Amino acid sequence: MTGPTGRAMPSADPHPARWWRTLPDGRLRCELCPRRCTLREGQRGFCFVRARVGDAIVLTTYGRSSGFVLDPIEKKPLAHVLPGSTILSFGTAGCNLACKYCQNWEISTSRDIDTLTAPATPQALAAAASDAGAAGVAFTYNDPVIFAEYAIDTAAACREAGLASVAVSAGWISPEPCTELFGAVDAANIDLKGFTDDFYRRVTGARLTDVLDTLTRVRALGTWLEITTLLIPGRNDSDAEIAAECAWIAAELGAEVPVHFSAFHPAHRMRETPRTPASTLERARAIARDAGLAHVYLGNVRTRDGASTRCAGCGTLLVDRESYRVTDYRITSEGACPQCGRRVPGLWDPAGPPPAAGQWLPRRVAVGV
Ligand code: SF4
Repeated sequence: MTGPTGRAMPSADPHPARWWRTLPDGRLRCELCPRRCTLREGQRGFCFVRARVGDAIVLTTYGRSSGFVLDPIEKKPLAHVLPGSTILSFGTAGCNLACKYCQNWEISTSRDIDTLTAPATPQALAAAASDAGAAGVAFTYNDPVIFAEYAIDTAAACREAGLASVAVSAGWISPEPCTELFGAVDAANIDLKGFTDDFYRRVTGARLTDVLDTLTRVRALGTWLEITTLLIPGRNDSDAEIAAECAWIAAELGAEVPVHFSAFHPAHRMRETPRTPASTLERARAIARDAGLAHVYLGNVRTRDGASTRCAGCGTLLVDRESYRVTDYRITSEGACPQCGRRVPGLWDPAGPPPAAGQWLPRRVAVGV
């Protein structure tokens, strides 16, 4: 079987896709994300991994991955979820956005899905995470929105095995699958890539209002939520834009939702844009604190205190981190500040970080099918 480009379709049986309908003219419309691709026989959607085969749409990457890595959960980034734990991380191929600066562009723009050489059922993924002593499984490297059926089944297998699952996503998804995908996982880090629709349209190919809807929906679901904004010099880093974003988060999601400001480095189609200086992240943190946000983190750059968790009440240092390593941990077994007793929002292990939390090393792992 060949796709519209003449390239070979994957040899594994494609998985029936959900969230599509037949239009009166016979085309099939995928309704998983707001892009709403309409497909004739043999065509693929923008994300490339959803394809029309006969009178149905299939997901061509179900059960297939580009590989599995044990990562620190801090790297997702998640600062209020089981600090110091490792998480079995994987992605597939393709993306429903088109970010000009994509930091994982080799995966997100991959059209050669026969390179997905690491097959794994949801149950095998959960078993591999358990065998490796990981806290669970992370859907990352590319957006789990486009492999939502696989991610939801894997999240269910993790829950069955007593493990966590986390989704790292741009959050550009339609309401119904949004509720299913983010309702299935324990935690999510969702990119808020900027705070103007102009930036979203020109630089990412998505729409700001859809992503804001996702954030409010995920917050309402009760799934643990953290937000990441990658600040790009001259594109989305003005005081006014950062202040507007922080004010919206404080008003609509609450002041204790953790926000990560992250530094851009030249990549993909924005190789001429300079790196984000540390001073920009420090400025963003000051603006966020002025807006009342309690937990602000700085990533991809060395800054003083940028990765540490402090009590929103008394300022006590609760989790000290060096890069992705937890070097000190003081949250009580009840998930509170030991100094003032204020509850620290997040998902905490009453036993604290695992013993090896300070000695994390990335390593690839094999997953049995
Ligand atoms: S998930 Fe893929 S096929 Fe479906 S609408 Fe979005 S880009 Fe198109």
